[in-house]
Amino acid sequence: MSNHRGKYTGLLICIALLALVILSLYTRQLKTIAFIKELHVPRVSTSASIIDLDGKLNFRARPHVQTQTSWNAPIMWELMFDDTLYDRTHKETKTAVALTVFAVGRYLEAYLEAFLSSAEEHFMLGLPVTYFVFTDLPEKMPKITLAPQRNIKIVKVEKHSRWQDISMMRMKIISEVIDTVLKHNFTYVFCFDVDQIFKGRFGSEALGESVALLHAHYYKLPKDQFTYDRNPESKACMTEGDYYYHAAIFGGTCEKVKTLADYCYINIMEDKLKNVEALWHDESHLNKYFWLNKPTKLLSPEYCWDNNIPNAEDIFIKRLEWAPKDYKKLRTL
Ligand code: UDP
Ligand code: MN
Repeated sequence: MSNHRGKYTGLLICIALLALVILSLYTRQLKTIAFIKELHVPRVSTSASIIDLDGKLNFRARPHVQTQTSWNAPIMWELMFDDTLYDRTHKETKTAVALTVFAVGRYLEAYLEAFLSSAEEHFMLGLPVTYFVFTDLPEKMPKITLAPQRNIKIVKVEKHSRWQDISMMRMKIISEVIDTVLKHNFTYVFCFDVDQIFKGRFGSEALGESVALLHAHYYKLPKDQFTYDRNPESKACMTEGDYYYHAAIFGGTCEKVKTLADYCYINIMEDKLKNVEALWHDESHLNKYFWLNKPTKLLSPEYCWDNNIPNAEDIFIKRLEWAPKDYKKLRTL
C-alpha cells in the first residue's frame, strides 16, 4: 500500500515538474514574441514570385561530383551556373533576402563581427539583405559598416543554460520571426550558424524554395556512415536517408523555412517530453525533415568548407569556411 502511495507521489512530482518546464518555456517564448513584434522593419517592395533559373545550369560542368539528386534538385558547384544571369534576374524581380544568425553568450564576441563583416563582402551582393541577429547581449553588438540596401536588426533573446538548447531553440524563434515580420518583407530567408566566415561569392544562385547544405565531412562517405539519429525513441530517428545535411545553413522561401522550423521545434519538444535528445540535436531533426520533404536545391560543401579536411580536390572555391571551434572556452555547460 505505502509502495503504491510512493509511486503516485513520484508520478505527481514528475507531472508537476513537466508542467513547470512547459510553463517556463512558454513564458520565455512570449517574451521573444514581444521583442519581435516591436521590431520595425521598413517594408521593401518584394516580388512574391520565386525565380527558377536552375533549368539553365550546366550539370556536366563538374564530372567528378554529383550535380543533381534522384529527384532532380540541382547540387550547386562552381562552374555550373552563370552568376550574372542569377544576379540580374533577382535584381529585376526585386528579390529581398533575410539572414538569421544567433550569437548568444560567448559566441557573440568570438564570431559575430567576422561573420557579419565578411557577409558584407560576399553574401548576396547587390540585393537588399537584412541581417536578423538574435542575442542575449545587444549592448555588445559590434559596429558593422553596411552597404546601401543592407540593414541589421537586433532581437534580444533569453540565454538557455545548455548549449544544446541554445542551438535547438533557434527553430522556435526562426518560426516566430518569419510569421511576425519576415513573410511580409522578404522573398527568401537563410539561417546561418555564426561560427563561420565568408571567403568567396555566396550569391543569388543559392536561393531556392527549399535549400539544404551537404555536410563537408559526409558528402563523399557511404550512407551507412551518416550520423543520423538511430534511437527509435527520438522523433529524429532515421533508418535510411538521401544525404547528410549540415544545419549550419538552411534556407528557402519564408513559407518553406517556417514549415521546416515548426517541424523541427515540435519534434524537439516531443523528444523533451520523453526525456530524449537526438544525437546531433536540431541537425538530426533537420535531416529527418529533408528526408521526408525533399529540398529543391542542395548546396555543395563549397558553400561551407572545413579547412581541417585534408582532401579538398572537389572544392574549386571556398565560399564560406568554418571558424575555429573552441568549445571549452565558448560553451558554458
Ligand atoms: N549558439 C550560440 N551560443 C551558444 C551555442 C550556440 O549563439 O552558446 C548558436 C550559434 O549561432 C552557433 C549555433 O548556435 O553557431 C550552433 O552551435 P555550434 O556552432 O556550437 O554547433 P556546431 O557547429 O558545433 O554543430
Ligand atoms: Mn556551428
